[in-house]
Amino acid sequence: MPGIELKNVTKTFGAATVIDNVSLSIRPHEFMVFLGPSGCGKSTLLRMIAGLESVDAGEIWIGDRRVDQLAPGERRVAMVFQHYALYPHMTVRENMSFGLRNVKLPEAEIDKRVDAAAKMLEITHLLERKPGQISGGQRQRVAIGRAIVKEPHLFLFDEPLSNLDAALRVRTRLEIAQLHQRVDAAMIFVTHDQVEAMTLAHRIVVMNNRKIEQIGTPMEIYSRPATTFVASFVGTPA
Ligand code: ADP
Ligand code: MG
Repeated sequence: MPGIELKNVTKTFGAATVIDNVSLSIRPHEFMVFLGPSGCGKSTLLRMIAGLESVDAGEIWIGDRRVDQLAPGERRVAMVFQHYALYPHMTVRENMSFGLRNVKLPEAEIDKRVDAAAKMLEITHLLERKPGQISGGQRQRVAIGRAIVKEPHLFLFDEPLSNLDAALRVRTRLEIAQLHQRVDAAMIFVTHDQVEAMTLAHRIVVMNNRKIEQIGTPMEIYSRPATTFVASFVGTPA
């Protein structure tokens, strides 16, 4: 099980630097939360790790492999998007299989992985339906299933709960924590919600304005905020 290392990662869009010289280590099987306000660069950083955005400077390593120049499919990383990003014209099974077919896995192995993930997520009865025929919470499970079948070393979640109602948000949060117990992978979970961060994280990376403000356990972040921004964002009493 590899760890993940970001070394001096920088991203600019035109004249704007949106990630400024970020360095970070994630341990094997660690549950890491990126916490920060809207626009601080969380999604951009996640997309660089996934390979959906290029890295302008710096390096990304997974174990002993440098991955920042590799295609997304070669990184052993799987991302779950805020808006699920399912193909509406494909069934649930086809949505979950699609990425595996691209890497030319044998059909029998694809079916085996999809069936196992569907069972784990309790969506076996939905496999032949289309995304338009299932609920938002079920679509979220399909999106998670599509990540599981890739057997990644690293799961990336970009605000996966923000489109769910309050009850479903709590339930899905618990399920993601359970998933983490069952898979041999690290996770990065992006949120702007302090409660989600505090309940899920082994360690929290507090981000603001293109940079990391502080990295620490929930207890460290809450009881010993390193900056006034962290103190006000996590709501530490003065
Ligand atoms: P967060 O996920 O924390 O809300 P983002 O990573 O989405 O923040 O965005 C960080 C900054 O980068 C924002 O100012 C956003 O407008 C800008 N940005 C993100 N993607 C692009 C893009 N493709 N082109 C130009 N600017 C972008
Ligand atoms: Mg975002």
